Amino acid sequence: MPSLQSVISCQSDYDPTALPVDQANAIIADVVDPVRGIEQLAIRTALDRVLAVDVISPIDVPAHDNSAMDGYAFSSLALAQGDASIALEVIGTAYAGNAFAGEAQPGQAVRIMTGAIMPAGCDTVIPQEFVEIQAGGNLVRFAPDAVRAGDNRRLRGEDLTRGQSALRAGRILTPADLGMLASLGVAEVKVRRRLRVAFFSTGDELRSIGEPLDPGCVYDSNRYTLHGMLRRLNVELIDMGVVRDEPEAMEAAFRSACENADAIITSGGVSVGDADYTKQIMEKLGDVTFWKIAMRPGRPMAFGRISSNGHDAMLFGLPGNPVAVMVTFYHFVRGALHRLMGANVAPLPRIRVRTTTPIRKKPGRTEFQRGILAPGADGNLEVRLTGQQGSGVLRSMSEANCFVVLDHDQGSVAAGDTVQVMLFDGLV
Ligand code: AMP
Ligand code: MG
Repeated sequence: MPSLQSVISCQSDYDPTALPVDQANAIIADVVDPVRGIEQLAIRTALDRVLAVDVISPIDVPAHDNSAMDGYAFSSLALAQGDASIALEVIGTAYAGNAFAGEAQPGQAVRIMTGAIMPAGCDTVIPQEFVEIQAGGNLVRFAPDAVRAGDNRRLRGEDLTRGQSALRAGRILTPADLGMLASLGVAEVKVRRRLRVAFFSTGDELRSIGEPLDPGCVYDSNRYTLHGMLRRLNVELIDMGVVRDEPEAMEAAFRSACENADAIITSGGVSVGDADYTKQIMEKLGDVTFWKIAMRPGRPMAFGRISSNGHDAMLFGLPGNPVAVMVTFYHFVRGALHRLMGANVAPLPRIRVRTTTPIRKKPGRTEFQRGILAPGADGNLEVRLTGQQGSGVLRSMSEANCFVVLDHDQGSVAAGDTVQVMLFDGLV
């Protein structure tokens, strides 16, 4: 793994006191390497896990040419006989799972069900609603323009051919993927081991639920938002509670986290003005840098790698403000943890819609305002801000379903202007 210093020295215009969001993410991506452990799991258990190696299809899918409709299979040579209606003798039935053993000759057809193997001598299926049944079911008649050669036939290997890669390493397995693996007859897959993520809150003003709230104190909410978001990323959680701002307690917490987890997430204590020991201990234990990111909310952030007794872990020191924690988690930690777990995840899509709220914004930082995306009167999607946007107002996150992303160089926008939004993506 490259050191933070060597990665940072390759960045031109590096300014840790006004670091653009994209540059911070580029540095994080260069420093983080995937964990190596791999395990083999039954496919049901592998839901939401990261595929460690490509899955190669052991069979053709479908395995045979088969019918896409209920109807009558016949040879398309019958279609080349001019404008007269076509009459074919029905010589048997092909069921899904029970093929027709014979061969259709010119002038003959086989009644066929969806999914049944195409009988020998047949390459086309006329759907049953286009035929007139005659002679008590022994004859079918239809117009020659009701179907074209090859219609309603699914070809062997049309979805996947044997030996082709069905799913790529790095994919986070979805319900659709489980179905696809089952359709290939694949019972088990190799996945990366789950990440272990330790997290704790710092700040002597914090109280845990159940404790009395003394004057000037607040309940620790960050451990709960972090718990929720980490759960959704399907990692193993190590919740270390609130750590007092004393050097021994702080060092013991970081060391224990380091020895038991792949990544550590803390909140609070990384602002410039903070008198806390948090930053000192982070610095003492490793290769850590303190950034002021050019963004709002969420300016201060510590990032690096710390080690203790031969174990090391990635460190994300998030700001203390509850909204800032969620925003920095979403825009930095999510991607870093995906990388660490070996997942190959497409960048979050941004869509452009009208804002019904005017938004004041200064160029020189990226803003992530909380928005509600919903259809407007004309049925097109539009976004409005959730009232109070202060970085301590957790309700703005709870009510929102998206971020309104105002890029670094952008200024204020008026009501009716187009803005970019990023959906919460099931994480928040
Ligand atoms: P800090 O970054 O430590 O200066 O904290 C900034 C603000 O966030 C302060 O108002 C803290 O009280 C608040 N805060 C810090 N940690 C938490 C937490 N775990 N839960 C709720 N609020 C917090
Ligand atoms: Mg603090």
